[in-house]
Amino acid sequence: MSQHLFDHHVVILGGSYAGIAAMRRLSKNPKLKVTLIDQHPYHFLQTEGYELISSNTSFEETIVSLPALCANYDNVTFKHRRVDSIELNHKRILLNDGEESYDTLVLALGSVTKRFECDSNVYNYSSGAKSLRGALKLNQFFQDELYKRLESDKKAKENFNIIVGGAGLSGVEIAAGMQHFFNRYYRSNALSCATLHIHLIASRETILNGMHRNIIKTATKRLKKLRVKVHTKSRIASISAHETLLTDGTKIPFDFMIFAGGTTIAPCLENVMLEQTPRGQFVVDAYLRATNDESIYIVGDTASLHDKKGNPLPPTAQTAIQSGEHAANNIILTQTHQSLKKANIKIQGLAIALGGKYAAIDLGFIRMSGYPAYLVKKLIERLYKWPLWWTAYRGFKNIDSCEI
Ligand SMILES: Cc1cc2nc3c(=O)[nH]c(=O)nc-3n(C[C@H](O)[C@H](O)[C@H](O)COP(=O)(O)OP(=O)(O)OC[C@H]3O[C@@H](n4cnc5c(N)ncnc54)[C@H](O)[C@@H]3O)c2cc1C
Repeated sequence: MSQHLFDHHVVILGGSYAGIAAMRRLSKNPKLKVTLIDQHPYHFLQTEGYELISSNTSFEETIVSLPALCANYDNVTFKHRRVDSIELNHKRILLNDGEESYDTLVLALGSVTKRFECDSNVYNYSSGAKSLRGALKLNQFFQDELYKRLESDKKAKENFNIIVGGAGLSGVEIAAGMQHFFNRYYRSNALSCATLHIHLIASRETILNGMHRNIIKTATKRLKKLRVKVHTKSRIASISAHETLLTDGTKIPFDFMIFAGGTTIAPCLENVMLEQTPRGQFVVDAYLRATNDESIYIVGDTASLHDKKGNPLPPTAQTAIQSGEHAANNIILTQTHQSLKKANIKIQGLAIALGGKYAAIDLGFIRMSGYPAYLVKKLIERLYKWPLWWTAYRGFKNIDSCEI
């Protein structure tokens, strides 16, 4: 990195949708020194995790190199470190190796899946789809199960039940993706997967609660066609080694469980004394700052975000990107002694993968489903991924100057 006299040090914790959006915007102000910290040297594209779980893509298609991305900018340094805790009083972050001081902090550490208290003998890959490691483990587990059935007729006749707890966007995408993955073997006559069942548990009257009724209808129809068993208006009441009891009294024997029924802040933030909602996100003011510390901006899934009318926004990649960019703009405005701008974050549309080359899309003014919707979803994913890949590709030639 060339030598500069920087006026202000901004530290961004978390190099994913929100953190990268903030970093790219801040990199345009040469007076700022920016440090991006992440526990992984890559940005995992969670929105494409369903493709990885269901063997439709390879893992390098779902990541962007953070050192290579950051190497494009003179005023940005990437640090591959785990955040252990934050000392607000000293404006200092404690890392697994060393520490980092900041003038302004951007918290973009996303969220983690709430753990479901259950018997330790029960497989529980609850955090699966939220990390590259978890998505790969899920995929390998299913491949193994299929292989066992291929080898043994006896095993192939045994029932194998998977429970997906939570029927929001990620629960539905995982259930549809996995069922399609199994059905593919069934259709190809390579293996009978008639004994493999996926149960999707929705606590509300429908899956995808809060989404447009046509999208709910399309997704429900598609899950039925794939043979996913959907249980509505019920929650998981208890779990024993081989059986789960739902609140409506249904008992489902199961072998494997994925919990996608809620998230909370990253464990390293648990003792940070910033105002929290009961759902486990940090409260932010209209400018996306912590309510009790103006030197901290909170973005993405870590923050409880609202639209202009005050309605809560679901945690999505698009709200993460918008909030990251907005926080960065406000940091730049502060540096130039201008008034901060209130956030105006919007959901511009939702695209839901429903197994194979099938999706449902709600852009507000237009809704569609099937293969055309799948193509639009792919286009949206690529319009995000390709510019990042291209920038990272250019950054590789500067990689030596990047501290990892
Ligand atoms: C299966 C699935 C499908 C989804 N589909 C969609 C979709 O189609 N469209 C959509 O808009 N959204 C979708 N989402 C939601 C979307 O992925 C999230 O809202 C988005 O990833 C949030 O971005 P973020 O930057 O806030 O946090 P994250 O993407 O969660 O990133 C957090 C970052 O912080 C880092 N980190 C965490 N803890 C530490 C630590 N202690 N030290 C250092 N680094 C740390 C992590 O490594 C990670 O890089 C989906 C989510 C899932 C799970």
